[in-house]
This record gives sequence, C-alpha cells and structure tokens, in this order.
Amino acid sequence: MRAVTFQAPGEVRVDEKPDPELTAPGEAIVRVEATGVCGSDLHLYHGRIQIEPGFTLGHEYVGTVVAAGEGVSGVSEGDRVLGAFLTACGKCFFCRRGDFHKCDAGRVFGHGATLGSLQGAQADLLLVPGADLTLRRVPEGLSDEVALFAGDVMGTGYHAIEALDLEPGGSVAVLGLGPVGLCAVQVAQAAGAAHVIGVDSVDERLRMGEAFGATPVHLTEEDVRGAVKEATEGRGVDGAVDAVGHPDALEMACRLARKAGTVAAIGVYSERVEVHMGIVWIKSLTLRSGQANVIAHLDPVLERLANGDLDPAPLVTHHMSLDEAPEAYRIYDRHEALKIVLSP
Ligand SMILES: [Zn+2]
Ligand SMILES: [Zn+2]
Repeated sequence: MRAVTFQAPGEVRVDEKPDPELTAPGEAIVRVEATGVCGSDLHLYHGRIQIEPGFTLGHEYVGTVVAAGEGVSGVSEGDRVLGAFLTACGKCFFCRRGDFHKCDAGRVFGHGATLGSLQGAQADLLLVPGADLTLRRVPEGLSDEVALFAGDVMGTGYHAIEALDLEPGGSVAVLGLGPVGLCAVQVAQAAGAAHVIGVDSVDERLRMGEAFGATPVHLTEEDVRGAVKEATEGRGVDGAVDAVGHPDALEMACRLARKAGTVAAIGVYSERVEVHMGIVWIKSLTLRSGQANVIAHLDPVLERLANGDLDPAPLVTHHMSLDEAPEAYRIYDRHEALKIVLSP
C-alpha cells in the first residue's frame, strides 16, 4: 500500500509499505477514502515534534472497514466509518470515568514512538486498535470530507465550547480563527450563543468567521475589548476560547471573560508560560485546558453534522490525491489552505 511518510524536516514522501494485518483482539483495518492534513502534522513536518524517518503521518480519516478482528462489535466489514485521532483502552481508571483523552494506554495515530507508535492515516490502509471506541459508522448522507472533522477538528471545537458550560443566550469570544477556532464558532452558535466574537489578524479567516455567524474583530486594527464590552453590557463574555496556544491569547481570553466566567485553553501548550493569576483570581475565573476528549464527543458531533447544525465543509479549501502529499504539505506550510483533504 501507499503511505505518506516523514523523511526529514520539511520533507515527506509517498512510500510503498506492506499492508497492515490484524495482530490483536479489538482491532480493525480500514481502507482510507479521505484523510486530512492538519496543523499538528506541521509540527512533525518541521521536526518540532520528533518522529522517526519512515513513519506514516496522518490522524484524520474516513473509510471502509475491510477487516474486523475478534471482539469487535461496534462496526463490521463493509461499514463506512470515521475515527478519532487517538485510541483508548476503555478499561483503565480514566477510561472508566469517560476521560478517554487521558487513557493510560492512549495512542495517537501518525505521531511516532512518543505517542504510541501508531502508524498514520495518510495511507491506503489503516490499522485501528480499540475499534469499538475509536470508530463510528458515518451517518447516511454525510460526505467523507465533513465526517472526518468529527474525529479531530470539530471534536476539538466542540470540546472547547462544552468546557464553557454555556447557557442559551450566552456570549463567547473565540481567539484564533484557524480550523479549530472556526469550528468552535459554529458549535457556540449551535449551542444558542447570542453573541460570538471571533478574533484573528487574517482577513479571510475573519470573513469565514463572519459567515459562520461570529462578529469579526481584527486583533490589531480594531478594539477587541471595546467590541466585547459593547456586546455584553460592559461585563465581558461568559466564556473565552484560546484556540491559538500562545500566552498572549491566553491572557487576552482571561481579560475578555466576565467575572465568574470560564476560559478554555484548547490551543496546544508544551512549555512553561505565565498566566496572570491575579486576573484569574480576582475575577473568579474557571480555567479549563488540555487536549480534547474527542472519543467522548464523536456521537453528539456526528449527530449535529448529520442534522446540519454544524457544517465545516467551507473549511475544506483543497482536495488532492494521496500521491500529491508532498505538495499538499508545502501548500499547508505556506498557510495557503485551511483544510486539505487527500484521497487515496
Ligand atoms: Zn488533526
Ligand atoms: Zn484507558
């Protein structure tokens, strides 16, 4: 089979690899029909996250089950499925609490040995451990490119808004209108928010945020705090989402949230950064953070994608073939695409 592999920083290649085989109970093999290129793939592409040369990339996928191993009951051969970007054991302390994203044995597709040595989805075939937790049937009528958002980007946007405990009629600020921030805008709208303020410094992202129902505010050319005050009778938003993963965004989120409000830091952090604890404390803010519990959100997200409450289709700016992966990575790296979907 073909597989998109990391070679060296700035270099991926389409390699020929042996087809995967079932090795343990609970596994399934999926023939990949659509697979996304994601912002987190760029961390690997640049070598900011270490990965072994030759490792297959990718963690967003839709396809058809071609083999279901012993003990798999949720999906069967011939099912059209989508999957989460990570797997979980279903048995450990954290899985029993439903915190699948913190599973003691959790593994992430396409991230090399540091995240569980699980070969990636940018390939013709994908081995999926824990298939009953990781995979879901794609609801009738949902396109591949929309369904694959449930397994990562939309699941993450959903996680951010769920963390805000938003009430209908509430107000939200989303800082950073990349794919995850734009998905969070849609989820906030679907959750009944009366005001969603989207902040970014790229005009076309602001325009897309506006098309999704947000009030667009340019980070440097407009008065972000003024816009929030105007929308909230001067109080600040009920919830603020840092969809960037930068201390400036986190601080702004803390400043834009109202007293006793919530800040969800969904952007990726791996280093020590300063949080203005004085603001957090004096405003009695709730600070939520961490990777999204995408497995827990698969069913509600798929339901909302199927009934049209959420529609990330406009985020797919490029369709390319798997063989064009090296060019797809170069395009994504130049920030010329929001979401690229590769078809094997
Ligand atoms: Zn992703
Ligand atoms: Zn577990």
